[in-house]
Amino acid sequence: MTDRPIAVMWFRNDLRLSDNPALIAAAKWARENNGTVLPVFILDPVISDQLGGATKWWLEKSLSALNKDIAKLGDSKSDHALRLFKGNAKTILERIADENPVQAVFWNRLYDKPSTERDTDIKSILQDRGLTCESHKANLLFEPWDVKTGSGTDFKVYSPFWRACQKLPPPREPHAVPDSVSLFKGEVYGQTNITDFDLAPKPVDWAGGLDDRFTPGEQGAKDQLFDFIDDRLTDYAEMRDRPDHRVTSELSPHLRFGEISPYQIWHAANHYADANPGKGKTASKFISELGWREFTHHILYHATDLRTVPLQGQFKHFPWSEDAKSLRAWQKGHTGFPIVDAGMRELWHTGYMHNRVRMIVGSILVKHLLIHWRDGLAWFDDTLVDACPANNPFSWQWIGGCGADATPYFRIFNPVLQGEKFDPKGDYVRQWVPELRDMPEQYIHKPWEASPLILKAAGVTLGKTYPEPLIGLKEGRERALHAYQDMKQAAG
Ligand code: FAD
Repeated sequence: MTDRPIAVMWFRNDLRLSDNPALIAAAKWARENNGTVLPVFILDPVISDQLGGATKWWLEKSLSALNKDIAKLGDSKSDHALRLFKGNAKTILERIADENPVQAVFWNRLYDKPSTERDTDIKSILQDRGLTCESHKANLLFEPWDVKTGSGTDFKVYSPFWRACQKLPPPREPHAVPDSVSLFKGEVYGQTNITDFDLAPKPVDWAGGLDDRFTPGEQGAKDQLFDFIDDRLTDYAEMRDRPDHRVTSELSPHLRFGEISPYQIWHAANHYADANPGKGKTASKFISELGWREFTHHILYHATDLRTVPLQGQFKHFPWSEDAKSLRAWQKGHTGFPIVDAGMRELWHTGYMHNRVRMIVGSILVKHLLIHWRDGLAWFDDTLVDACPANNPFSWQWIGGCGADATPYFRIFNPVLQGEKFDPKGDYVRQWVPELRDMPEQYIHKPWEASPLILKAAGVTLGKTYPEPLIGLKEGRERALHAYQDMKQAAG
């Protein structure tokens, strides 16, 4: 036990050292008070309830990377520079404060209800005990309560929301990593290790495809950002809808865990635009996607429960179908619609799916198959490495036609036309659905229209080597439109 006062730095979805305002504040507090910093991560039910298989895999790697980075920063040889705890965050923080000379606690803010309720409660308890307790803005460019309509309410539509954001003071410059941090070196009762978190894939290691594609951790995030800015941002505006070209940033899982901040990304994209005259359009298209992330968090913060309650009340009356067989076929990428199956298999294999394809697979599920958007959300929550408490439910409500600024339910994506437009040569389908590799371009997105001779030449037997479509496109579309009418009648 030491007598030097301790500042606890409570890491949550901000697993980085650079541009981390709470860490900077904790380090400053420790310097000014001749104290030390105790970095902690607590796997509490609020966090574990939000994890699926793929995000668990990511979190384990990210925590290990952060632990090493903290050890380097604090000049520590310990394997446990980041102290891990499992259980109720309030109980654990109180116990740490009971047993050690803790005088201050710092964290960066989160915006989902379980987190905000937990944090408010913890802040008031710690402050009642006389501790300094500070929360910081780090994970959003604009606080949800700072962006208001002319009449002072929150926004429901993206474009005016983003226009209002742009009228606010621009996002501050990112902060550097603190020069050094004096770490608390003593034992802390109740501390555990990463294996006790039970995050690794089980019973077999199914994560090889995720490992090949991503490098969790702050360094992986920075490499990803700079590769994107150097090589791909130039084509982003034009090509971002093309899954057959890898053009987008793939920063979403890094943002999900806060391994990089939106400030770092926002400024990197703006510097690129300043340095490359004529490239302002592509940079601002990319930045506007960060704007969507801001918007989904704005909606999450103000909504009752984005995961379960449709924002448009009439959708409580939608006649969803209980169709476990079709749901399973969709999950496994066996729907018989090539672009859908390619996306679902990419997801299963890598933990990621291109945005355009997410929209197509989502539309097939909730419209042609009439399966509840919550089933799609649950599958994405389990399989996406970027599964995010704001973006995922928001996007599923958007696809389901029941969310904020949503695509109207009666606008139904045709997976053949979408495939022909955004994967014109079928390269994406060929990559993920190898049984269709030899189909000619003309039929790659609609093998059921090919003649028996063409199918035979491509080695495809529908219903055997590749499934027949789960439903006719026209039939599915009409059924969806009827269901929509039924809902409107039921809702009065
Ligand atoms: P880029 O195009 O490079 O965009 C940069 C960043 O902007 C992204 O990393 C992301 O943080 C943000 N962004 C981009 N598009 C969107 C969008 N439509 N909505 C909100 N933010 C966006 N995104 C998630 O991060 N987590 C999810 O769980 C998630 N679930 C989705 C579910 C469905 C059904 C759909 C249609 C979309 C979902 N998205 C989700 C949004 C989007 O598909 C991903 O953010 C994007 O594909 C990530 O790839 P990227 O990083 O290369 O994006």
